[in-house]
Amino acid sequence: MRENNLKINFNPGPAALPYVVLQEASEAILNYNNTGLSILSIPHRGKLFTDILEESKQLVKELCGIGDDYEVLWMQGGGRMQFCMVPMNFLSQGQIAAYVDSGYWSADAIAHANYYGDVKVLSSSQQDNYRHLPAWPSGIPAGTAYLHFTTNNTIYGTQWKDIPSCTVPLIADMSSDIFSMRRKYTNCDLFYAVAQKNIGPAGATLVVVKKDLLHKVNPGLPPMLSYAGHAKAGSVLNTPPVFAIYTSLLTLRWTKEKGIDNIESENKTKASLLYEEIERNDLFVCNVHEADRSTMNVCFGAANKTLEKKFIDYCEQRNITGIEGHRSVGAFRVSLYNAITVADVLHLVAVMQEFENLNKS
Ligand SMILES: *Cc1c(COP(=O)(O)O)cnc(C)c1O
Repeated sequence: MRENNLKINFNPGPAALPYVVLQEASEAILNYNNTGLSILSIPHRGKLFTDILEESKQLVKELCGIGDDYEVLWMQGGGRMQFCMVPMNFLSQGQIAAYVDSGYWSADAIAHANYYGDVKVLSSSQQDNYRHLPAWPSGIPAGTAYLHFTTNNTIYGTQWKDIPSCTVPLIADMSSDIFSMRRKYTNCDLFYAVAQKNIGPAGATLVVVKKDLLHKVNPGLPPMLSYAGHAKAGSVLNTPPVFAIYTSLLTLRWTKEKGIDNIESENKTKASLLYEEIERNDLFVCNVHEADRSTMNVCFGAANKTLEKKFIDYCEQRNITGIEGHRSVGAFRVSLYNAITVADVLHLVAVMQEFENLNKS
């Protein structure tokens, strides 16, 4: 056990949060900022929460380098709700919704869009089991309402490092790598991220949308299902997940204090340490194409499948948890979100080397 009694937690989400955030969040449950109130029991339309909302929105803008031409919204319903709301709001009759299919989550976004209208997949790496990114679409068909893609493929371990500019509104699911690196967020007209990876606890979803795009929202939607409705109500259309948003604010403050540049360089160091060990250590293999490898989710396997469960058990004995691959692909996935430290990764690498020595043939 470490000083803080917590395991090294490589879970994909809900994922590890910075320890100081957990401490501050716990204190706020007992007595929020000495107000004599628990954060769990403050009114969502009162000044205490309005201040939390405002500060969080401001920090999101700063961290993404975006201006007042964007609206920051806190919503609920997770990734799947966004998979529904994007086509519901922006796809109309006679138009096409264009998607890039780079893995499980893009495929699920496509499946959801199919409920609403004509969907066209412009490129996909599904045939190669998503071991690499698909080509970026070279042309956008006429009548395309928007192009949707997933910046980081949490389950297959690939990541778009750059956000290309696009001739139609570009919409990105950034759930598993928002705030992990310096990025051209302004190339997106709408991006969203569930909180439970780099932001906070499950229950809150961050949506950032260009005000221009809000004018294109399909009419006739009930406010709860309309981005314009949420924007108009300032993210308090109904009772929001106050505690999840507050804890997210604590992480946003931590992120700002650390600085995106430092976070990016640490994330690169963490990922390199792990990929290099996988390459060096004969017990492990990584089939993801090198150029496309994610800094957030490192997906790999054991060269000898019978050692997979043994390695997971060995890690548990050595205080490491959460390295199982997604149920759809198996093997290992180590999630290196912002709260994971270089020391955490060094510990894992040392454990991989111990395991190598124990299993020498
Ligand atoms: C985790 C994740 C989601 C989660 O969606 P939920 O519906 O909230 O479970 C969506 N997209 C991506 C890319 C993810 O990594």
